[in-house]
Amino acid sequence: MKKDDNCIFCKIIEGKIPAAKVYEDEKVLAFLDIMPVNKGHVLIVPKSHSKNILEDDDKDIAACMKVVKKVSTAVIKAMKADGFNIGVNTERAAGQAIFHTHFHVIPRFQNDGLHHWPSGKYDGEEITKVKQLIIKKIE
Ligand code: 5GP
Ligand code: ZN
Repeated sequence: MKKDDNCIFCKIIEGKIPAAKVYEDEKVLAFLDIMPVNKGHVLIVPKSHSKNILEDDDKDIAACMKVVKKVSTAVIKAMKADGFNIGVNTERAAGQAIFHTHFHVIPRFQNDGLHHWPSGKYDGEEITKVKQLIIKKIE
C-alpha cells in the first residue's frame, strides 16, 4: 500500500484527519466532499496512493469503479437525486487540485442550475485525422 505523508487524502485514509466516511473496504474509501457541488457529493479513492488514474494500479481502478457504482446507487436513493455525474479531473489543466486519484460522484437534480460542458465541432476531415492520431497511440 503506497502512501504520501504530504497527501491530504492519505491522511484521511490513515484517520489522521476526519472525514464523513460512507463506505470502506480493503482497497477503497468513500467520503463526502467537504465543498460539495450538490449535497451528497462523494469522493471515492483507492487506499494506495497514486497521483492520478494514469499512475494507479489497474486493480485499484477496477475496485474504485465497483464502489462508484455501489455509492452512486445509494446517493441517488438517499438524496432523491434525478441523476448523477461521475468526474475524474486529471492534472491541473482539467481542474485536479488534490493529487491522489479520486472519482467524484455528484448527485444531479432537474433544474439544479449546473450547466453541461459546451459542445465543439470538427471541420471537414479533421475528425478522421484526430481518430488516426489517437489510434496510433493506443498501447
Ligand atoms: P479535484 O479538483 O482535485 O478533482 O477535487 C478535489 C476535491 O477534494 C474538491 O472537490 C474538494 O472540495 C475536496 N477536498 C479538498 N480537501 C478536502 C478535505 O480535507 N476533505 C474532504 N472531505 N474533501 C476535500
Ligand atoms: Zn495520497
